[in-house]
Formats: sequence, structure tokens, C-alpha cells
Amino acid sequence: MHLFDDRTHSVRDLAVTPRMTIYVCGITPYDAAHLGHAFTYTHFDVLVRLLRHAGAEVLHAQNITDVDDDILRVAKERGEDYLELGNREVAGFVEQMRTIGNEPPTFSPRATEFVPQMIEEVRNLLTVGHAYERSGTVYFRIASDPDYGSLSGLTREQMLPLAEERGGHPEDANKDDPLDFVLWQRSVEGEPWWESPWGRGRPGWHIECSTMSQSLLGQPLDIHGGGTDLIYPHHESETAQAECGHPTDTPFVRRWMHTGTVYMAGEKMSKSLGNLTFVRDLLARHGPMAIREFLLRHHYREDWEFDEAALDLVADPGEGPASREAFLGALEDDLNTPEALRVLDRAAALGDVALRDECRDLLGLSEVRSAP
Ligand SMILES: [Zn+2]
Repeated sequence: MHLFDDRTHSVRDLAVTPRMTIYVCGITPYDAAHLGHAFTYTHFDVLVRLLRHAGAEVLHAQNITDVDDDILRVAKERGEDYLELGNREVAGFVEQMRTIGNEPPTFSPRATEFVPQMIEEVRNLLTVGHAYERSGTVYFRIASDPDYGSLSGLTREQMLPLAEERGGHPEDANKDDPLDFVLWQRSVEGEPWWESPWGRGRPGWHIECSTMSQSLLGQPLDIHGGGTDLIYPHHESETAQAECGHPTDTPFVRRWMHTGTVYMAGEKMSKSLGNLTFVRDLLARHGPMAIREFLLRHHYREDWEFDEAALDLVADPGEGPASREAFLGALEDDLNTPEALRVLDRAAALGDVALRDECRDLLGLSEVRSAP
């Protein structure tokens, strides 16, 4: 099987071993799931199905970031407890992902359940000299890691505006370098807190994921993924924490895999622009399997423009073989779901019901579920 590697920017062979670990960054549950979420998690679901079909036991973890700046801000705006807000949004998310045919991950860790382990990771980074503490907040010192930036390939000048846009607070005067990032932060009045060696505080976003993945799946991870906008600073910083905190001969992650961006009217679908298409609204207007098929008609690395009118169009199966080999060959070629669907369509057009059903099974398209 071949899969693109975001570290080397090339399609490389992926060895399927008897036991494989996948960690996919999950949601921060402060709002309903949108099409970008569905796109990411549906493609990772197909990858897990394919690896299991190839004989691997796959341990798939998808976390829930139930304490961070975003969820605390929204909970405060609404005068609601952040855990209640999180629980409600998680319940909706789990139900919607199930409805569009995604199997539940093996593990769905919540950040608030791993705080003691996160404190231990931060303590270790201080001990080995990759972090410093200022007034109850602990920062990672990027100057201590010569590899910082190697995953994203970004220059400092490129990182700075992204750090600003993505909650990195480069203006924080307590930092030695504007690109240093928070490992542990002192909780302000009204925020949840945990006791730590640095006083009452809460974990930083990046340490949450590297700690949960290492706690549940160990190091190295076979595959770590998420949306492309997580490469910097989130995955860059996760890598720095894990590799500086636990130096070994193997990297933190064997294969980085990121899904493309969904656009709407030329703009990235995002909370801040207010142009989100929510999964629950699409489910009210379209069948769940039509939504799943529509998502899989875009390759996982594609940036694409959402056009709801296209959702129910019948796709052109094109010319080509309609065989089991052609179907699996497409999926094993960097998870080419658009081509795999064309093979499925050709099998259907030829009346090859057995092949069509086998293809539908592997893509998760045979599950008949009703909309919530
Ligand atoms: Zn993450």
C-alpha cells in the first residue's frame, strides 16, 4: 500500500503490520460538527477499514479536546459549564458520525481525563531542559529543538502570523521567543484548574494530544493525522514535545497524513467566517450514505469547494476496469476513493452485484442508517 507522507511530501510505501496505531486529532466540542469534520473523519474511517481488511489489528484513537481556550470562551459567553457544553456537542458529533457510517474509534480520550499524565510530561520537559516556567505558566523553548519546523517546513516569518491566528499568542511578553508555546498555563479567574507543581492551571492544547496518544498507543505512532490546518502549530509542537521529551531512535510518528480544506464560496469553511455547513443540517436534506459517498468522491488531500447542488448528482463512472483488483488497487494507491467509487459504479452498471456490494462494504456505504 502507498500513502502520502506529509513530512517528505511524497507518496511512500506503507508497510501493513499485524498491529497498527492511528491517532487522529478530534474535535473541540463547542459547536456542531461541520462538513470539514465529516470530510476528515470519513476518510480516516476508510483508511482504518482498508488496513483491517488487509489483516491488521488497528488501534484508532480520536481525542476530544474538552478543555482549551475555545471551549472555555464559548462556555463563558453562554454562561454554561464547559463540561456540559462539551458533553452535549460530543453526543451530537458521535451520533452524526455514526449516521454517516463512521465506525467508533477504538479510543475516544478526553483531555480532562489525562491531566495527571500531561503534568508529568510537562515536568519531564522542564527536567530535560526543553521548557521554562514564568509565573505559573510553562513554555516549550523552541530554540532547544533544532528540528522545530521540520514537519511544516515553515520559516519563522511564515510561522508568526499562523501562531497568532491559531491561538499561539506570540505577543505574550513572558516568552523568550514569540514562537515558544504553552505547555501548562495558569488558570485565570473562573477557569477550570488542576493542582500542579506550578500552581493551579490547565494543560496547553499541544501537550494534550501528544500525551493522550503516547498514553494510549505508545511511541512511535504508525499514522498521525488531522486536517491540514493542524500541521502548524499543533503537529509541529506535538512532535517537538514527544521527541524532546522521549528521545529514541524512531520518530514520534511514522506517517503524517492530513486532509484537504473544504471551501464555501471561495473561502475556507470556518467558524470565524461563519460559513459553516453543519452535518446535522445536511442530514435533514440528504440521505446519510449520499453524504458519505459525496465526501469520498473527493480525494482526502484535495482542497475543494462545497456545492450542495452537486451532492445528489449521479457521477460518471468513466472508462476502465471493474474488478476487485482495480478497486483495491485504487484504495491502496494513496487512498484514491474517487477512483474506487468509479470502479464501484462500473460494477453496478455491469450488473456485477457481488462486486458492487463488496466495494460498498469496504467503503462503509452499505450501512443503512436513519438520520437522527
Ligand atoms: Zn491534536
